[in-house]
Amino acid sequence: MNIILLGPPGAGKGTQARRLVEERGMVQLSTGDMLREARTSGSEMGKKVAAVMDAGQLVTDEIVIGLIEEKILEGNSAGYIFDGFPRTLGQADALNALLERNGVKLDTVVEMQVDDSALVARISGRFTCGNCGEVYHDETKPTQADGVCDECGSTDLKRRADDNAESLKTRLMEYYKKTSALVGYYYARGELQSVDGLQGVEEVAADISKALA
Ligand code: ADP
Ligand code: AMP
Repeated sequence: MNIILLGPPGAGKGTQARRLVEERGMVQLSTGDMLREARTSGSEMGKKVAAVMDAGQLVTDEIVIGLIEEKILEGNSAGYIFDGFPRTLGQADALNALLERNGVKLDTVVEMQVDDSALVARISGRFTCGNCGEVYHDETKPTQADGVCDECGSTDLKRRADDNAESLKTRLMEYYKKTSALVGYYYARGELQSVDGLQGVEEVAADISKALA
């Protein structure tokens, strides 16, 4: 099964993608994670995109399509979760072409609906484990022991450079200007299902499971 999780920054895509990986053995393809890895590795591409990401703008279609293509060519049988990709109509068209060329079928697109005030609260409290990638929140999902990841015991807990009020404003506007058009795009193709992302993590997960059934 291959799915897209579509939604604004902070909607809970990464949180739900990790559950699907754990429960179904699917492969999470997060372009945000790939770009952050490129930055950490110090690659030329990573250097090129750093300022754009910190400002909260989208990097070029060409770069993210290239990253996704590399992963698709590696192959996988359990299915992909596209998380944070596509984000423009150009990326959506490119993904269709790429999937078709590689004989991969897109099963459904799950839109996670969350309003702006909740997104701000979610993003301003987000931190993640630098070792295993577990996603936390100061209020709704703190670690059990202060400063230690519940999953892997690492103390490398991080906040993202772009999880600040100024960058978030830009990221939200980028979403409404460039990405939200994909809701109509996938609806018109009969591929869209929407879930109420304002619910708790368990309830959202249950609704996603229904959408995938
Ligand atoms: P995205 O990948 O869409 O940017 P994340 O999965 O990183 O979003 O979630 C953003 C923040 O919101 C994290 O701190 C996460 O713990 C929290 N979060 C995720 N889902 C929910 C939810 N259903 N209810 C409350 N908080 C949530
Ligand atoms: P995310 O981790 O999904 O919140 O993405 C973090 C940042 O990476 C975004 O604000 C963009 O700068 C960049 N990015 C991630 N995915 C894409 C994409 N599909 N298209 C363009 N830019 C992206």
